[in-house]
Amino acid sequence: MKCDVLTLFPDIINTYLRESILKRAQEKMLIEVTPYNIRNFTTDKHHTVDDYSFGGGPGMVLKPEPIFRAIDFLKKDNVPRRVVLLSPQGKPFNQLIAKEYSREKRRLVFICGRYEGIDERVRLALIDEEISIGDYIMTGGELAALVIIDVSTRLIPGALGDEKSVEEESFSWGLLDYPHFTRPREFQGLSVPDVLISGNHKEILRWRRKEALKKTIKQRPDLIKKIKLSDEDKKIISELEISCEDEND
Ligand code: SAM
Repeated sequence: MKCDVLTLFPDIINTYLRESILKRAQEKMLIEVTPYNIRNFTTDKHHTVDDYSFGGGPGMVLKPEPIFRAIDFLKKDNVPRRVVLLSPQGKPFNQLIAKEYSREKRRLVFICGRYEGIDERVRLALIDEEISIGDYIMTGGELAALVIIDVSTRLIPGALGDEKSVEEESFSWGLLDYPHFTRPREFQGLSVPDVLISGNHKEILRWRRKEALKKTIKQRPDLIKKIKLSDEDKKIISELEISCEDEND
């Protein structure tokens, strides 16, 4: 996965990329992320990137010219690109979109807005899609770009120490993850469930599936409706005290 990030704050991107899994994914050449400072594409002596909103109102708007110039600059190499505008008005980001990005052959370009947002002509002329990471407003698009890069990188084979981590995580199999415990076995009067120490793998698998179903029904009943439940799942659910319908009431 190769990405360019257009931002006024490249250090935000660089700082996160210097740590942990993303750092290693870059070293293994599984991802390449290049931040570009939008300010470097200004032509006036004050390097102006924003201006007042036509029609009045509070807040400044990111000017179109530096962003158009930045995209022109990137496109000079003729490498196919998929241009993504980070915006609270966009399509909600999720694991499926992340999977798509993790396999994307084109170079991804993330445009990070600031202030009141970006001149509408960027949206009209330059972008392939608009993506939101949730129904709330952040100060800028940098955290959204990092969330997307982080989530997508974990789905690239070889990015994590153990590929199974991805397979068993929340959302990957349509359910929330099951509870995890590590040592010590007893902590502040709370003990690890006996089944996890039993060594009985069949029982452990069943317990984990049951806990995942229980948690999903309780916390995200919308998810349970989207997955195809096996006969065993239905049996497990019938043993639980809660039902999908109860949680929706
Ligand atoms: N006035 C804009 C609106 O109401 O849609 C919000 C502008 S916001 C303060 C500044 C920038 O942060 C946006 O242009 C966008 O790039 C980014 N941003 C804020 N919230 C976001 C979200 N939930 N998802 C993706 N990007 C977001």
